[in-house]
Amino acid sequence: MQLATTQPEKNVQEVREYDLFLDVDFVGLRYGGKVTIDLESVGDVSLDAVGLQINNVKSGSRAVPFKHSGKVLEIQTGKFSGPLEIEFKGRVSDNFTGFYKASYGDGYILSTHLEAVQARKVIPCVDHPAFKAMFKVKVRTDQNLSVISNMPIESETKEGSKRTVAFKKTPKMSTYLLYLGVGKFVQEKGRHGGTDLYAAYADRPTGKINTEFSFDASRKVLDFYESYFGIPFQLPKLHNVAVPEFAYGAMENWGAITYREILLHVDKDTSVRAKKSVAHVIAHEIAHMWFGDLVTMKWWDDLWLNESFATFMDFKSTNQAYPEWKVWQDFVRTSTSGAMGRDALTKTHPIMAKVHDPEEIEELFDEISYGKGASILRMIEAYIGPENFKNGVRQYLQKFRYSNASGHDLWSNLQEASGTEVSRIMEGWISQEGFPVVKASLAGTRLVFEQERFLLTGGTSKQTWPIPVTMIVDGKTQSLLLDKRKAEVNLPATTRSLKVNVDQTGFYVVQYDGKALQDLVWKGRLSSLDRWGLVNDAKAFLLSGRIPFKEYLDLIEKYDREEEYLPAIEVSDQLSFLYQIAPSKLVEISRNFHSAGLSIFENKRDDNSTTLKGIIAARLTLLDDGYAKLAGSKFKDLANVEPDMKRSVVMGYARSSNDYGGLIGRYMNSTTDEERLRFLEGLVSFKNPELITKTLNFALSGKVKRQDVRNVILYATSNPDARTAIWQWFKKNIAKLEEMYSGTAQFSIILREYLSIVGVGRAAEVEKFFSEHKVIGADIALERLRIYDQLAKKIDASI
Ligand SMILES: [Zn+2]
Repeated sequence: MQLATTQPEKNVQEVREYDLFLDVDFVGLRYGGKVTIDLESVGDVSLDAVGLQINNVKSGSRAVPFKHSGKVLEIQTGKFSGPLEIEFKGRVSDNFTGFYKASYGDGYILSTHLEAVQARKVIPCVDHPAFKAMFKVKVRTDQNLSVISNMPIESETKEGSKRTVAFKKTPKMSTYLLYLGVGKFVQEKGRHGGTDLYAAYADRPTGKINTEFSFDASRKVLDFYESYFGIPFQLPKLHNVAVPEFAYGAMENWGAITYREILLHVDKDTSVRAKKSVAHVIAHEIAHMWFGDLVTMKWWDDLWLNESFATFMDFKSTNQAYPEWKVWQDFVRTSTSGAMGRDALTKTHPIMAKVHDPEEIEELFDEISYGKGASILRMIEAYIGPENFKNGVRQYLQKFRYSNASGHDLWSNLQEASGTEVSRIMEGWISQEGFPVVKASLAGTRLVFEQERFLLTGGTSKQTWPIPVTMIVDGKTQSLLLDKRKAEVNLPATTRSLKVNVDQTGFYVVQYDGKALQDLVWKGRLSSLDRWGLVNDAKAFLLSGRIPFKEYLDLIEKYDREEEYLPAIEVSDQLSFLYQIAPSKLVEISRNFHSAGLSIFENKRDDNSTTLKGIIAARLTLLDDGYAKLAGSKFKDLANVEPDMKRSVVMGYARSSNDYGGLIGRYMNSTTDEERLRFLEGLVSFKNPELITKTLNFALSGKVKRQDVRNVILYATSNPDARTAIWQWFKKNIAKLEEMYSGTAQFSIILREYLSIVGVGRAAEVEKFFSEHKVIGADIALERLRIYDQLAKKIDASI
């Protein structure tokens, strides 16, 4: 498939190599460039070139006439084979895309972010993932700056106040994976087998990034992938680059991965919660070195293949590297559950979505591409077995390395390796949107399954999915492929316990019909994952109106004094969410659960309990003034509070003191991003809405990293006292937010994740506002808002 707006690839058959020279004016924020592109074309060559000034195009010493529309560079070559030389000029971008300025305090570095279609903003190129080529990069800039790219440095020359750095040629790769970083970097070096490992971060007086843990995590996951994939890491070196400002979490540029600073830094003050995300993101990005970089999707409609696979492999490798975290528990509650929450809306899309124009690609970086795709892979792995799955993946990578592939290629390899029907099942899941609810009921000794589409709006549709249904009956696991509307299995007459969707490997929810069957479910020994599944499904049924609020509360009561991490954190999440949409009705239930939870987890020392205790305590400051005061009293001794508990101390202090000035002072003196975020969270946890507005305005004052403005809104959304303040502020600043995050999916995330909650109780007003302000993502936010608003009304009526 091709881009509808520009079709540069229409005549170009192949691009062999880009020989690129950039002369970077670091202070003036612009650059001059010359690129020699060795290509093959059946007619006039057209290239992607957005916002660049094209000076001349030559073939050998001959000038070639060209036209540049501002987006596409048409070169009148006729049928052509060989090198074309283009001289051009570009500007450093001020938002988060292309070759952009990433600021910190008084300084900045320059860094690229080229996924999905931003390479064309930096150099003229065929900006299409299937046009893989080799890149030879040379950069001239100020003597005192370093330059980082995908490959190791081949040579360096100095001349006056300038330095020219030439890099070794890359293997064949897609344009979106090219990387260039220019600035004052601290670079630390390590090694892993034959690979040089580097950590790089902006050099400045305060705010050193402590990279020891990131090296350790990188080595561990490299080990895992090299053995799992059976292919060694492909490049001579690998950089982990911390970028001071970054719209996304991280980016898998081949050999030069970029991260937010918070995702490479771990020291003694780092919470377990933050440390876990460091490990996960490193594992995700390094998985892309094989899946995405070595083998790349043919076109963006298979973006999910990159992202879901990296997400799935992240959990696999992290599970091996840090077994004590039992990370599959976090997988279901983040990836699976997050994707279901999105996919249960009428406004969703199939995993494999049609992509027509570049703007649409950004919107695909969502819960469906990452979480649903990864959950489907987990479901298929459980169905065909982990060994077969691994063998299929290995075959696939071997076959398509340095090249491109599609989802179908992966299925056929999994099918071949397992001798099981994989392609038909996968097609059923990736080509249609939504997911099923499996309704289970008893008919004598038969267990009857019936499937239909699950929608939060309460409706349904006649779709069916090929569902590998698993069940555990009296401790024994069995499975069937439910690919029609209805199927049934015989149960032994003596059946004492059963549960469907064992360990929650399936991407469906299960509704058990009738008390007799429900009793059987609760009689068995349920794993943490299964206990999680029951309460996860209950929330879905509550939101969709399939069960009344009273029935939901009865179920929640079963988790009253929950001692296990996964079900406890899930119930905490759910009660906090319900408290956000119906604060006055939920405050008591939620407070009781969290108070009890704090005393249960207080003395547990494992990492997951430590994380959970921190989360529970932070939530309790919003629910219980007495606790807020108690927690806040430790503020003067914050340095000695254990890292995961610091959030609750800062939030408790904010709620009990209203000390805006004091918290701002602490924020300004912070040296790490985790600390800064912690104070920002405190600064929107006040009870006084005027102080919230002050903080929200402060977030746009230039003193908060632009990437973190989204976090400020997220934190404020958890505080019911902040609701009106956020909405008023959002209406005033919508244009600024949209501009700040343009070219990324961040703005629509604000809408669908936070505005849908902030709008509860004022749904009509929000709908009217968005009918006047047409923005991408508003439709999803509004659908969610209507569902939440309905539920809030029902809760109101029932308590
Ligand atoms: Zn990714």
